[in-house]
Amino acid sequence: MPLKPDITPPEAQDMRVGFALVGIGKLTSQELIPAARTSEHAYVAALVSGEADKAQGFARALGLGEGDAYTYEQFDELANRDDVQAVYIVLPNSLHREYATRAARMGKHVLCEKPLGVNAEDAQAIVDACREAGVLLMTAYRCQYTPEHWAARDAVQDGMLGPVRLLHSIHAQVEDDPEAWRLKRDLAGGGPLPDVGIYSLNTLRFITGQEPEWVFATQHQPTGDPRFREVEASMSALLGFPDGVSATIQTSYAAHKTTTLSVMGEKGSLTMDPAFPYDGLKLRISSEDGTHEPAFPEYDQFTLEFDHFARCIRSGRAPWTPGEEGVQDHVIMDALYESARTGQVVRLPGSAKADAFRGTKPDLPEK
Ligand code: NAD
Repeated sequence: MPLKPDITPPEAQDMRVGFALVGIGKLTSQELIPAARTSEHAYVAALVSGEADKAQGFARALGLGEGDAYTYEQFDELANRDDVQAVYIVLPNSLHREYATRAARMGKHVLCEKPLGVNAEDAQAIVDACREAGVLLMTAYRCQYTPEHWAARDAVQDGMLGPVRLLHSIHAQVEDDPEAWRLKRDLAGGGPLPDVGIYSLNTLRFITGQEPEWVFATQHQPTGDPRFREVEASMSALLGFPDGVSATIQTSYAAHKTTTLSVMGEKGSLTMDPAFPYDGLKLRISSEDGTHEPAFPEYDQFTLEFDHFARCIRSGRAPWTPGEEGVQDHVIMDALYESARTGQVVRLPGSAKADAFRGTKPDLPEK
């Protein structure tokens, strides 16, 4: 895949924050490496992979040396690299904890892919390890950094839709390969819910700034389909937010690619469709002023994340989506699985204040 062209003049390399990318799968090779090239505040200083050849090939393509490519066995040698200030973990979910903890012990800041772990306890252990080591931790929730999602949040929170009553989101796609790690409970922690359904959950929480107080869920795990021996094929959930606001979330690994989100207020509504791809997001707002589809500047979601975390590292401020934000989604997902298992409503602590688990607001790309 051709690398995207530079769109911003990079700072002198030594002013930017050096990242080691751990795991060179689809996301790293197709999105993160190109995104880092257009980052103003971050660059890839090292790569870590199970295959030495693969890491070296990508290192060469980035203009790095052979010594910048590491195997998983050599991971702890990053401790000797002062130019590597942050480690970006892009591995199957159950490996996040081990590598995040080892990175934190080396004094490296940690950017970790979603979901943060495989359940709330696992994710909390990552937060604790980073806190103990005094390093920053960011959960890579790219949809909390885009101008489209912020415009949706502003429309809701500025009252453009009147009091919000109903929320709805679907994130579904077909997973074909029965051997994929995403379908193995030990590696993934669950099925579509922690992989794609998490976008619905996380983005509705972000847009409202509120936390659900109870959840009810049902899931379907067909017998006889080798893909769903270990995890659910689909889940439908009802979530109760404060003041009687209710949300429905649906997710599936056996339904055609769909990413939508809607918020219905008393005086207006908004829809994002598609709501969660890497680009081409579309927002439509209907209010007393009519219906409009705002225009947004071009940007790369992963570059925005790199830049935000690099700025936080330089200023010592907590990122907008710290580890706590990742743990909160796991607390809710654990409750959704418990509800699906027991057939009961599961109550949650909720939160007394808005944006309870978030840190420093990100800068949005300018028009
Ligand atoms: P992938 O399967 O393409 O790559 C996973 C990488 O992990 C590969 O390089 C593989 O070799 C390595 N690996 C190490 N140990 C492994 C093991 N035991 N089993 C399987 N692979 C192993 O996955 P991906 O799509 O790059 O996903 C990696 C992480 O990124 C996941 O946490 C996923 O949820 C997240 N992700 C996030 C987004 C996003 O939009 N933010 C998109 C895709 C994936």
